[in-house]
Amino acid sequence: MTATIIDGKAVAATLRGRIADEAARLKARSGLVPGLATVLVGADPASEVYVRNKRKTAEALGFNSIHVELPADTTQAELLARVRGLNADKSVHGILVQLPLPKGLDEVPVLDALDPAKDVDALTPVNAGLLLSGRAQLVSCTPAGVMLLLKQYVGDIAGKEALVIGRSLLFGKPAAQLLLAANATVTMAHSRSKDLPMLARRADILVAAIGKPEFVKAGWIKPGAVVIDVGINRVDAGDGKYKLVGDVDYGPASEVAGAITPVPGGVGAMTIICLMQNTLIAACAQTGLPLPKF
Ligand code: NAP
Repeated sequence: MTATIIDGKAVAATLRGRIADEAARLKARSGLVPGLATVLVGADPASEVYVRNKRKTAEALGFNSIHVELPADTTQAELLARVRGLNADKSVHGILVQLPLPKGLDEVPVLDALDPAKDVDALTPVNAGLLLSGRAQLVSCTPAGVMLLLKQYVGDIAGKEALVIGRSLLFGKPAAQLLLAANATVTMAHSRSKDLPMLARRADILVAAIGKPEFVKAGWIKPGAVVIDVGINRVDAGDGKYKLVGDVDYGPASEVAGAITPVPGGVGAMTIICLMQNTLIAACAQTGLPLPKF
């Protein structure tokens, strides 16, 4: 079998068009311009690229992009003061503090200080709790993107066996909640799980968010399963350069799976656009406007 390639770029482009239309409509009708604040502490090159891409996308959609750049030796108190300042700024509807923070800074008090209404990464305990209760308005961006890909390529996932490998706050835990809310039968696996290949072979939907290059092997995959590869790993390309690979051994896996996300061009393509969707939703919620449906 040769798997269908799940085209995250195409799904993201369609959503981007809808968000741009909705943003233009909102501006024309109510003068509302969604504001996204990005906070970057230190000079981690990967974080700089991520933040630059988020800002560029926000600007291209006509959002107000506010950027706060702080040195790596910023104190915890200074960072908290900047977050509280953004909480109080009415032109800012979404706040994204780029993680990880430099050594010496603790992300927990930062997330605790963030206004949940502006938490467009949906990492605060309030938004995690709302997701658990089935009442979330703001859903963590990468899991939200995965659900959109499943909706487009699978449709109804009720009753399907889903395995999520990885239990991070950023991805694994919210992804499992969303799959459960969509009526899948969900198993979560992690570094202490026993016999991952056996768990994986049961899965109609296999989601890997581990951070280990090509860790999930073709022999683990149930023939015809949908494989969602969240991992982004930089590996040596052999010519002094590097390339990006996922957590799934893509070539052999695509001979067994029914559908699979490539890396890059799969899940990663969805994350930023889901952040923009959250910013638009947050802007409407904070100004008492009806929430847009995409
Ligand atoms: P993370 O915080 O790096 O944690 C990794 C998870 O994998 C942990 O839950 C860990 O288990 C589990 N794990 C590690 N080794 C394992 C093993 N041998 N067997 C089974 N499970 C194992 O996770 P993350 O932040 O979700 O990131 C995971 C990957 O996704 C990374 O490559 C990251 O770059 C990528 N990512 C991509 C996007 C995107 O936009 N596409 C967004 C977020 C993350 P324990 O909990 O037991 O330690």
